[in-house]
Amino acid sequence: MQEVPLSIARLLRFGSTVHGTSTVSTWTGEGVRRATYAEVGSRAAQLAHALRELGVTSDQRVATFMFNNQEHLEAYLAVPSMGAVLHTLNIRLFPEQLVYIANHAQDHVVIVDGALIPLLAKVLPEMTTVRHVVVSGAGDRTPLAIPTVQVHEYDELIAAQPTTFDWPEVDEHDGAALCYTSGTTGNPKGVVYSHRSIWLHSTQVCMTEGFGLTDNETVLAVVPQFHAMSWGLAYAAFMSGASLVMPDRFLQAAPLAAMIAAERPTFAGAVPTIWSDLLRHLDADGGDVSSLREVVIGGSACPPSLMEAFWDRYGIRVVHAWGMTECSPLGSISRPPVTAVDEDAKRAYRITQGRLPAAVEGRLVGPDGEVVPSDGGSVGELEIRGPWVTASYYLDDDPDKFDEGWFRTGDVGVLTGDGFLTLTDRAKDVIKSGGEWISSVELENLLMAHPDVIEASVVGVPDDKWGERPLASVVLVEGAAVDFEGLRSYLGERVARWQLPERWAVIDEVPKTSVGKFDKKVLRRRYADGELDVTTLV
Ligand code: AMP
Repeated sequence: MQEVPLSIARLLRFGSTVHGTSTVSTWTGEGVRRATYAEVGSRAAQLAHALRELGVTSDQRVATFMFNNQEHLEAYLAVPSMGAVLHTLNIRLFPEQLVYIANHAQDHVVIVDGALIPLLAKVLPEMTTVRHVVVSGAGDRTPLAIPTVQVHEYDELIAAQPTTFDWPEVDEHDGAALCYTSGTTGNPKGVVYSHRSIWLHSTQVCMTEGFGLTDNETVLAVVPQFHAMSWGLAYAAFMSGASLVMPDRFLQAAPLAAMIAAERPTFAGAVPTIWSDLLRHLDADGGDVSSLREVVIGGSACPPSLMEAFWDRYGIRVVHAWGMTECSPLGSISRPPVTAVDEDAKRAYRITQGRLPAAVEGRLVGPDGEVVPSDGGSVGELEIRGPWVTASYYLDDDPDKFDEGWFRTGDVGVLTGDGFLTLTDRAKDVIKSGGEWISSVELENLLMAHPDVIEASVVGVPDDKWGERPLASVVLVEGAAVDFEGLRSYLGERVARWQLPERWAVIDEVPKTSVGKFDKKVLRRRYADGELDVTTLV
């Protein structure tokens, strides 16, 4: 067979010609600005010329500090296609982390949304390798004026450039994009995706056993382009011809509902917190979401109650998926197999984290380091390997994460013989109570199915007798009475008695990480610092 490199430039050429009439629509608050993939292709070529003029050669890093929008898509395509490396900066990280990441990656250029200038300006003086900032969209440029950096206007910079580019032939194993994990402990770590890994991952995303994307679909990409490459949606859209709707900075439930009603996407991807906000909004204020065929939820465990609410009340099928920055990120997706005939059997599959595809092998390793069987009952830490799973971190040693060619995910759960994964917890969140393990996720999911509870987070806290015991922090529906005894007996009907939390607290909101996951370390700290008003049931 021929040796043809699988590259982003091929993807760009294909999408912008064969699917030249597909569109990317960026929400502006009232409506959209729209561009065809043909136009995006031309502008990506112009951007590449402009970046060359700014001195971007070879595999230099071009960072983005952006929401999901058309220009971010152009950077996704232009930067890797010209042989450089796209580095997506997470706009929600703490300043120290952003500075660390930009310096570690040695970013040369940062492309920033005008609306994000105030955030970037705070950290720019400490980003020691950045020489150019390219600004897209409205916003006061003054805070960017520092001696080491030249500031450019995105549209002006690309305007006079040729609309075609002689894309270099890259080695498919070369780096195309770089994304840092949100890192709860220690410094964030970089994962470099190769052209090949992105290509292969995109084919999986397009497949029926993935997100099932075709040129007949319109994808609402809520999951940020700075979080795990927006789950591959941007590249998969160029591969399949699916059109894209980009929410830009409008990520709250009301504008999302307006966007869905106006742009009629058929498919969407987001973390559970965003969809539970949207559900509450739809329940309270209504909205036309009838265009949505399917919504993939991942990034944290999707409560079964959320899946069921969307199906029962809006006819939208929620598909649960699991993944990580380190695996591009798609690791598993939950579509019931053909053997599941009745609704109960299908449901039992849907609530799992899903089936690992052919390219992602998984195994479970028990506490003693031995592989345990994939029999649906034996619990262990999930290890994975495959062509879009990282083999190392960028310029960073973390030998603990790699186990003889396998990547240690830090997620604990069970695998079945037919390849389905059910996670019980992150290894560090499992509650170790007197020699038994309690799944915080299971308790959270059950609590969040209770009609009085909006959000619930369960963490292990030190206990003299048992080592650790669960503390349940709940966000209650407005007007609901605080009834911990009631919640506890509700749980008592569903889990073993020794798993029931004694410690309870009501909180206003579950703290979230920069990518919208429950931030359990904040709750543990609040508990340790005595900041929570805890009731102990005996
Ligand atoms: P990130 O690299 O930020 O995407 O985080 C990856 C981690 O998110 C995984 O290792 C899991 O702990 C968690 N995660 C992602 N998807 C799911 C899911 N469907 N259910 C439970 N945890 C998930």
